[in-house]
Amino acid sequence: MTAPPIAQSDPFLDELRSILGPDGVRADKPARWNRTRVPAPFPVHRWADYAPDVVVLPRTAQEIAGVVRLANRHGIPVVPRAGATGLNDGAVPLRRGIIVDVKRMNQIREIDLVDRTVTVGPGINMLKLNEELRKHGVMFPDDPASYPCSLVGGRIGTSGWSLIGGRYGHTRDLVISFEIVLPTGEIIRVGDGGGRKIRKSSTGYQLKHLFMGHQGTLGIVTEATLELVPRPEVEFAAFFHYPSFQAAYESTGALTKSGLATLAGVVLFDEWKLRYLRRDDEAYIPQAENVRAVVATAMYGTRDEVKPAARRLVRTARESGGTYLGDEVSQGDWAARHDRYATPLHGRLRTTGQVVPMSWHCEDAAINYSALPQVMEEWHAIADRIIDRYGIFDDWGMFFYTNAAHKPWGDYLVEIDIGIWEQKLDDVNWAGWVEAKHDIAAVALKYGGSITACHGATREGDAELAAEEMGGGFEVMKAIKRVLDPNNIMNPGKYELDTAYDPNAPSPFSGRRTGGN
Ligand SMILES: Cc1cc2nc3c(=O)[nH]c(=O)nc-3n(C[C@H](O)[C@H](O)[C@H](O)COP(=O)(O)OP(=O)(O)OC[C@H]3O[C@@H](n4cnc5c(N)ncnc54)[C@H](O)[C@@H]3O)c2cc1C
Repeated sequence: MTAPPIAQSDPFLDELRSILGPDGVRADKPARWNRTRVPAPFPVHRWADYAPDVVVLPRTAQEIAGVVRLANRHGIPVVPRAGATGLNDGAVPLRRGIIVDVKRMNQIREIDLVDRTVTVGPGINMLKLNEELRKHGVMFPDDPASYPCSLVGGRIGTSGWSLIGGRYGHTRDLVISFEIVLPTGEIIRVGDGGGRKIRKSSTGYQLKHLFMGHQGTLGIVTEATLELVPRPEVEFAAFFHYPSFQAAYESTGALTKSGLATLAGVVLFDEWKLRYLRRDDEAYIPQAENVRAVVATAMYGTRDEVKPAARRLVRTARESGGTYLGDEVSQGDWAARHDRYATPLHGRLRTTGQVVPMSWHCEDAAINYSALPQVMEEWHAIADRIIDRYGIFDDWGMFFYTNAAHKPWGDYLVEIDIGIWEQKLDDVNWAGWVEAKHDIAAVALKYGGSITACHGATREGDAELAAEEMGGGFEVMKAIKRVLDPNNIMNPGKYELDTAYDPNAPSPFSGRRTGGN
């Protein structure tokens, strides 16, 4: 479904203004074009194809419900947008239409220190929220690398992953309940139990999880009640180095299987990552050449818990071949975890060694511990292939992060970071990227993994494999989508869900049909 573009003089805009007021509707080019893309790789040469027709800036759930009902009457797509930091294309309006930007819904509505919850609008970020909560000795421990810029609405929209999820859980564990405007305009609340602040119940279907990570295809979150935990007395970070990836991999296994309850996360850096950091990241403190892999660990909790646990952790790392990298690297690098990722902004061409502007992209499969070495080799081989063939990519190495909440041992969020010289994208280079993306996802599935641990798999190259990963579950997903969104207005084009309405629906990408490359 692609509705005809909305002209700037269209009476539809007046209908929107009657719901949101004049300052809540932006149809000017800067407002629309600035909300076309997110940091996920984007075919910049086709920017105009995906620019929304209009942007709305609601303040209440009722306004959003009004917009959604109006959109249904006119058959116009609606796409929620929060911090716009998604590394999928979740907030990109593939079929244009209305962007619902929730940033003005950024209030803290209630802090309940007795039942330990905080209730917020979807437009607040974790940094701002925790600045306020600090005064009360508590925190909301959702801690992605995008901590200062992603918003609660987007965290729910993607079902985000947190760097300290091993200790505290990820977004789905930390959001107790939320209010959501359904695609037909009704406002409902879903959660872990009947009351807004109940964490466990066995009544009915567990609908919270249906509306967690739906990428804006099933509605718009307008309020969320979140978990509060005591602020930790201690954040202990320790980084270790190893003479080989194999040694670091085995040590990672020993550390994560230690059973230490205060362990918040373990991150393994591979050899490609260290080579890249030495070569091109000015913020990295260079290590001696014999350092081939690094493992970062972090523990959170009370002093009485963390002190003895840290001694045990350091002993385990040393006994499994690690050498402590010192306080400066350990504390400095962990403290910079929210700033480091997207900063390099440049990469290097293999052929000439020339330094060129590049943007950062990462894949985020979930893979079992046993398969990490094979996935690493195969992903680097794919990166090698496109670097040689297209000359606009660079391999920035891989990270392996503990993935499961409270159970850090079994599977890992596996990330390969790839630099992309976006200005050089044209149809040929873009097709090369999409093919590589598809191959990376296929490797994850080959080893029994998931395409994505936190970003989502709606992108070109991923979407067709998402249906494969889900097996028969994808038919259930399509049936749910049809029932909840009879007119396919909520974020159409995502996850090949247009095929829920028409098996031959055209793809939103490059004019191809859905269901294959
Ligand atoms: C430097 C950097 C580091 C990152 N590190 C991490 C990390 O450690 N962990 C992690 O999980 N992710 C990480 N990401 C990815 C990104 O920050 C997350 O996916 C985040 O959850 C997106 O939030 P957002 O507010 O930016 O959402 P957006 O990008 O605006 O939207 C994401 C999706 O949610 C939908 N959505 C937005 N608002 C709503 C709403 N109110 N109701 C329903 N759906 C909605 C959108 O339609 C879209 O599909 C990182 C990104 C960057 C740029």
